[in-house]
Amino acid sequence: MTQPGFTGAGLDRADHLRLDAERLADLMANGDARLLRLDMVDPVLDEQGGLLWGPLDGVAEMLFLGLEEGRPLFAPLVRMEQLGQRAWGVFRLLSLMSPRDAAIWGAARSLNEWHNRHGFCPVCGHPTDLFRAGWGRKCPNCGAEHFPRVDPVVIMLAEHDDRVLLGRSPHYPPSRYSALAGFVEPGESIEEAVARELQEEAGVAVGGVRYVASQPWPFPGSLMIACIGQAEGEALTLDRNELEDAFWCDRAGVEAALAGDPDAPFQAPPPFAIANTLLTRWLAGG
Ligand SMILES: [Zn+2]
Repeated sequence: MTQPGFTGAGLDRADHLRLDAERLADLMANGDARLLRLDMVDPVLDEQGGLLWGPLDGVAEMLFLGLEEGRPLFAPLVRMEQLGQRAWGVFRLLSLMSPRDAAIWGAARSLNEWHNRHGFCPVCGHPTDLFRAGWGRKCPNCGAEHFPRVDPVVIMLAEHDDRVLLGRSPHYPPSRYSALAGFVEPGESIEEAVARELQEEAGVAVGGVRYVASQPWPFPGSLMIACIGQAEGEALTLDRNELEDAFWCDRAGVEAALAGDPDAPFQAPPPFAIANTLLTRWLAGG
């Protein structure tokens, strides 16, 4: 079974240590402890293509990522100049990284961006302090505690007559098509969000919706929830603000695209994107 990108970090997150100042200090003093090296918030790879780690030095604030077979792993809290950047340059590095390394880096990136966006208390406006070893911020003025947010996004294939609906956003690379996606809104279930997005963006009504897989997506902190919905028909009414184009693709077309065939009807999303996993599993009948 294809493993979604950004999953499988395999770390013990050791939540029970996050508020234990004494044991955290011991972990930081541990000679085996490692600090993730970052270029701003981008990954830095070693000669073997793995994440680069170093000793814990010269960093004012650290995020405790967890324990790897007892070895404490940390990431630096960095001051980000630009928030919410898609960082297309990072995608080239991600295509070289294992899902496990991408998962560890992704958590560090999401946490960093969240800290940078939450320097002030959303309740009273006072500057906040890092707490829970990086897995929260606390307001010293009103006492409010804030926790890293995860934004659920549905990403889905509508399926009809053994074909799936693929679309392209105006900002995609040339000939790239992917599954449609959108944020889950307050008051909505995953199934309802899938049906609404397909109706809004493509005018497609779906009946049954089934869950396939999920992945964290660290730009900046989404949880991508991949689903397949059974479409009632193939007529399309596109929302041109969201989609430049869309079409129904058969199995042969999806197979060719995933294989990187230059004659395929579209260019597949990269392997670290869950849309790739979704297409792979649909092809496998999953
Ligand atoms: Zn406050």
